[in-house]
Amino acid sequence: MPEIPVSRPALVAPLAEDEWPEEVPVLIVGGGPVGMSSAILLGQRGIESMLLERRDFDTRFPRAHLLNVRTMEIFHEMGVADDIYAMEPIDKDWHKVVWYTTIAGPTPQHGLKIGEVPAWGGGKDAEIYATASPRLFANLPQIRLDRQIHKHAMAALPGRVRANQEVIDIVNLPEGGVVATVLDRATNVERKVKAKYLIAADGGRVSADLLGIDREGPKAIHSILSLYVSTELPMWKESSALLCHMIQPWSGGRTSGVLQALGPGHYGNKSPEWLVAGSLRPGEEPTDDPDVLIARARTLLGVPDDHPMTLNAVSLWQYEGVVADKYRVGSSFVAGDAAHRHPPTGGLGLNGGVQDAHNLAWKIAAVLNGQAPDGLLDSYGLERRPVAAYFTAHSLENANRHTPIGRALGLQDGMAEADGWKELEIFTSDTPEGEARRAAVAAAVKDNEADYSQINVEAGFQYAAGAFIADGPTVRPEPVSPTDFVPTTLPGAHVPHVWLKHSAGGTVSAPVSTIDVHARDAFTLFVDPSAAAAWQEAGAAQAWPVKVVVVADEDTDWSAVSSVGRGGAILVRPDSKVAWRVASAPSDATAALTDAFNQILSGGFELPEDPTQPFLERIRVSAKTLVRR
Ligand SMILES: Cc1cc2nc3c(=O)[nH]c(=O)nc-3n(C[C@H](O)[C@H](O)[C@H](O)COP(=O)(O)OP(=O)(O)OC[C@H]3O[C@@H](n4cnc5c(N)ncnc54)[C@H](O)[C@@H]3O)c2cc1C
Repeated sequence: MPEIPVSRPALVAPLAEDEWPEEVPVLIVGGGPVGMSSAILLGQRGIESMLLERRDFDTRFPRAHLLNVRTMEIFHEMGVADDIYAMEPIDKDWHKVVWYTTIAGPTPQHGLKIGEVPAWGGGKDAEIYATASPRLFANLPQIRLDRQIHKHAMAALPGRVRANQEVIDIVNLPEGGVVATVLDRATNVERKVKAKYLIAADGGRVSADLLGIDREGPKAIHSILSLYVSTELPMWKESSALLCHMIQPWSGGRTSGVLQALGPGHYGNKSPEWLVAGSLRPGEEPTDDPDVLIARARTLLGVPDDHPMTLNAVSLWQYEGVVADKYRVGSSFVAGDAAHRHPPTGGLGLNGGVQDAHNLAWKIAAVLNGQAPDGLLDSYGLERRPVAAYFTAHSLENANRHTPIGRALGLQDGMAEADGWKELEIFTSDTPEGEARRAAVAAAVKDNEADYSQINVEAGFQYAAGAFIADGPTVRPEPVSPTDFVPTTLPGAHVPHVWLKHSAGGTVSAPVSTIDVHARDAFTLFVDPSAAAAWQEAGAAQAWPVKVVVVADEDTDWSAVSSVGRGGAILVRPDSKVAWRVASAPSDATAALTDAFNQILSGGFELPEDPTQPFLERIRVSAKTLVRR
């Protein structure tokens, strides 16, 4: 079975940069990764959208870097994935996370290794990650990633991805549609742009206020000062660690800082660029003096005062744990950081945002193309909001799991720094107490494994309600293991990845993943040969294009996970989510499929119990523990 090309040519006619249509089908506010992904996904469906970014498209700060397998599937669909993989280091030797005090320094307690865990599909995880997706995890700092996405957004929407355009007002019209007021920051000209739909992907800067959206959850939990530096760190012992968490005696057993290799080219100790991030010390005031900031980075790392280092950029940001109370207001939707913000512990922010865009784009295109009523768009928030709350709770809990390591080292809140170094002497000592502390620290480090091997968080979530027909449990019992990924065809879940190795007649063919074989502009029916003709007929009778994939009986890996019997079918949405399944051949396949489409696309979806609430409670509990005293 040949692999279907998923990268699409531009379908939207170019627009001159100084031309402003009176109305566009979709206006996207914000040119971060989520806005630009929305632009690509809509442009590649022929929707003549426009993206407005208040600044230019140069990302100034590295920020996100871990791209999980579900996001890479989306980037593959957009045609962006190969560019991302091509920019990664060839050896990809960055599959662990370590904890140290500093990376170097004058005493045995400096440069002291506290522990390590495998990460991102490294070590034993490689096999389980490979069961979830045909795509590999990727690692590309946003400073380079955003440029790649921007290139593809420009290609998908030529002349419609515009810099220096700040949206300063949004009015949802009672009759439907929306009008945005846009300030051209280069010319100071204000203009109105009308759109049928608006996607606010502004990182939360203005959309919440302009749309009357409340962000539930704790804001400003604590401040982090991140420094993006160029420096050589030959004294750093770890050649294959991407991230190093530093726990130092001054921070009361909590994380003091993070060292992250940024490449390019090498991500181990030969990385030329680094992120050195740290909590503010008690009483420390933020500064923009580069000399003070570089001195701060050197102290955090434990390198000499004259160690050569160039400061490229600075970012002071807050740990938050917030989720929008509404994802839709009138004809406007929030996506990405505009809808949810949480710490990067788990690397779920950008990933979750790109997945929001993917969920929304095919639905907006379907409504604009007359394939579904506007009510289909109500499923966007129903589906994505609980996932955002789940990601937020998990990220905050991940952040909290570092403190027990510090506690096991003997470090406590309010402890004087000198006393803390003495505790670390006990930790390294050849005494029964030292041995007991080392065992306790090892256990506390091990408790962090799920932060970095969280395939079930990244790939295993399932929608609770929305544009699918549930036929089993939709609200997953808690706690869900972050590590144990079990593929399922339960409606609302992601279609399982299985390598199909035979053509319909049973002859061996080049393996293709079920994820790559399903259509992006159509629904896909996975069926077996016994009822293929009836399902082909049923598909052809629908208003929507339906691709029928006949899985050969020899592809037993599929029958092992499909949970449907002979003659049954699994209907998959353009965004890879299972929409409906039927266990055996219905007496009238056409009537059954027509009925399913009517339910899936009609809107009026109901959420039997709000699955967001328990996550919001977990967010509140975690945030209390994270607040620094
Ligand atoms: C240190 C750090 C590490 C991180 N690591 C990870 C990670 O490993 N993995 C991960 O998934 N996430 C990570 N994140 C989170 C990730 O960076 C964000 O989730 C992601 O950038 C959100 O993308 P976005 O497009 O929604 O918003 P943004 O990237 O904030 O983009 C919003 C854009 O909108 C523009 N804008 C704002 N207001 C307006 C307006 N009125 N008009 C027009 N344009 C406007 C802004 O200029 C900006 O360009 C990390 C974050 C930090 C701080």
